[in-house]
Amino acid sequence: MLAKPRNTIEIINKYSFVFQKKYGQNFLIDTHVLEKIVRTADISKDDFVLEIGPGIGSLTQYLCESAREVVAVEIDKRLIPILEDTLSAYDNITILNEDILKFDIEGLVKNYNNNRPIKVVANLPYYITTPIIMDLFEKHIPLAGVTIMIQREVADRIQARPGTKEYGALSLAVQYYAKPYIAANVPPNCFMPRPKVGSAVINLTPHTESPYQVKDEALLFSLIRASFNQRRKTLVNGIYNFEGLSFSKEEIVEALEFLELSKDIRGETMTLGQFVEMANYLSKYI
Ligand code: SAM
Repeated sequence: MLAKPRNTIEIINKYSFVFQKKYGQNFLIDTHVLEKIVRTADISKDDFVLEIGPGIGSLTQYLCESAREVVAVEIDKRLIPILEDTLSAYDNITILNEDILKFDIEGLVKNYNNNRPIKVVANLPYYITTPIIMDLFEKHIPLAGVTIMIQREVADRIQARPGTKEYGALSLAVQYYAKPYIAANVPPNCFMPRPKVGSAVINLTPHTESPYQVKDEALLFSLIRASFNQRRKTLVNGIYNFEGLSFSKEEIVEALEFLELSKDIRGETMTLGQFVEMANYLSKYI
């Protein structure tokens, strides 16, 4: 297994590979963690898996063993010949040298999987954590599940409940689309080189049917962003001062009264259901 530290070192030396910080290159060197990721993703021979950032292929090996087909998208062209070497035993892998943030994931699902839901599995480069998660959901990519290694602190924010200090726009945005579950906390010594922060494996299971009936999704997300833009402000002031929203204070207070909430409430105590009701109420003033 590539992820054994001595095997990783052997590949690094064989190709004189130099880690690039800007690409968030922290390779996994703990086989238990890799097994945990694959178990959490619940991959079977029916599954089509998109891996983001395969590195030298440590996680990819496990994915190729358990999935029907794997497509791995890697930005660093120096890793392509390495991956062609380390994954040469598998015929169910396609390696693409692309930037995932510019990559047409919708096209991939269409052309490679007949638009059927895919699983996304990755030890993510941390600098793209939020954009990639939001991209997957906002573009309504057909997803059967997302299992990713991310910073511990971001995982806590995603899973946070109202009234906690971690709760914010990211918690609400992700929970609108999916049910988050932290499967494992992973310390820095499981990576080479070691990252400065702790990590976590999080699973996001998209809602099969949305629990929320939203009239105007864009308005909902603007309200959420406005409410957490300046955390110490009341919700009324946050929304009133937010560029891009033009409700009067009276309209915002009226919405809160309709929801039977105090006009001094802050966003951090409001549930997603309350944000949805508020957006639905205010949509008549747009
Ligand atoms: N999957 C490997 C592992 O677990 O050992 C490597 C994970 S490492 C944290 C992140 C990988 O993502 C690196 O190989 C890096 O080059 C790649 N990467 C960084 N930015 C990327 C991007 N925008 N698109 C695709 N891959 C990217």
